[in-house]
Amino acid sequence: MGEKNWAGNHEYRGRIARPTSVEELRELVTGATSVRALGSRHSFNDLADTDGLLVSTAGLPAGIRIDPDARTVTVGGGVRYGDLARELQAAGWALHNLASLPHISVAGAIATATHGSGDRNGNLSTAVAGLRILTGSGELVDIARGDAGFEGAAVSLGALGVVTEVVLDIRPTFDARQRLFGGVPWDVVIERFDEVTSVAYSVSLFTTWDEESVSLAWLKELDGAATTIADDFFGAPALTEARHMIAAMDVRNTTEQLGVVGPWSERLAHFRFEFTPSNGEEIQSEYLVPRARAVEAIQAVRALAPVIAPLLQISEIRTVAADDLWLSSAYGTDAVGLHFTWFRDQAGVEAVLPALEAALLPLGARPHWGKLYLDVDGVVPSLYPRLDDFRALAASFDPAGRFRNPFLTRLLA
Ligand SMILES: Cc1cc2nc3c(=O)[nH]c(=O)nc-3n(C[C@H](O)[C@H](O)[C@H](O)COP(=O)(O)OP(=O)(O)OC[C@H]3O[C@@H](n4cnc5c(N)ncnc54)[C@H](O)[C@@H]3O)c2cc1C
Repeated sequence: MGEKNWAGNHEYRGRIARPTSVEELRELVTGATSVRALGSRHSFNDLADTDGLLVSTAGLPAGIRIDPDARTVTVGGGVRYGDLARELQAAGWALHNLASLPHISVAGAIATATHGSGDRNGNLSTAVAGLRILTGSGELVDIARGDAGFEGAAVSLGALGVVTEVVLDIRPTFDARQRLFGGVPWDVVIERFDEVTSVAYSVSLFTTWDEESVSLAWLKELDGAATTIADDFFGAPALTEARHMIAAMDVRNTTEQLGVVGPWSERLAHFRFEFTPSNGEEIQSEYLVPRARAVEAIQAVRALAPVIAPLLQISEIRTVAADDLWLSSAYGTDAVGLHFTWFRDQAGVEAVLPALEAALLPLGARPHWGKLYLDVDGVVPSLYPRLDDFRALAASFDPAGRFRNPFLTRLLA
């Protein structure tokens, strides 16, 4: 049996090689006719797969180098955010945001426009200032913000080559705290959505859609920032005991809550880096809705609650600032992520996705590239106005199509 992704819902078809140097990686890539980079395997679909060669980036050099004058850090593509965050924090620096899980590789995350939350926080790809890409011909190509095609390369889906190094913007370290509130009334979420999501650096709403009120609001606030929220969040009381977003799960896996101030590296992700889930009992989907349609989308999903809820562990509603990256799910629009953590029931989830997508995709919702989606009507390409430019960029980086796989053929053909 072949190796699987983190969730165990996809078995890789290709042979996995584990190079430990860029030279070794170059030999592997140039010797293959079909090759894909494999990060930390946290995607839930066949995006990373090929029936040829998969090159794991986990053993490539970490090479973390901070440039205080440029306010950037250069990091090997296979490095996990949790490792990078520790090094940055130790040196007095920070990233602007993190995803919920810090175990995900930097190059794998930016390749799919992975994001955290926050009205004014772009996704993790927006922190990319430069990339070094090993192309199919074995050449190392540097591309930096301001260069032609950079906006296409920052969210690449692995189509251009293997990203061996990423240059990320950094800022001086900061402290933050997390507070949780239980039971936000739905009419507040619907009628005062902009107020609700803008009261903190990052706001996430957790729900199963079939409940009387949104069960949890999870705030990440910068230490010292003024706040209008005391012990009441739009009618929801502050929780006085820490909890997991899935009530039945062990709270020790989550980063410290209850307003305890700590470094960004231990507050911006929902989950602790010390907690290492080797595999998941879940499948995820997420749809990034243009912010102007978010309330409609939320109402549409609520109407589907009876079919969704039996398969759902939890949903998270979160926000992402607009950017100009061609394949970003927030390209040209502030976006609201409607995230679904399903039980690991592939057939069951695939049975409800058509109804969910029929409600969301017509609103312009873009599925998260790394999560499970179906797009039965093939509308996703039409949601990306710069897709032709990306096609041309991919063809220029990879004229032989070494990095093409069925996922990319569906999207780019
Ligand atoms: C528990 C869990 C929590 C998650 N939380 C979030 C979240 O909070 N927010 C969010 O947006 N997403 C989240 N995700 C989704 C995840 O961030 C994305 O699927 C991400 O792309 C996974 O990165 P990876 O390193 O595992 O990449 P993989 O799954 O291994 O690969 C994903 C893509 O990246 C490409 N790639 C990987 N490395 C390179 C490289 N060096 N060069 C070129 N291409 C490369 C692959 O070819 C493939 O196309 C979560 C997933 C899990 C399992």
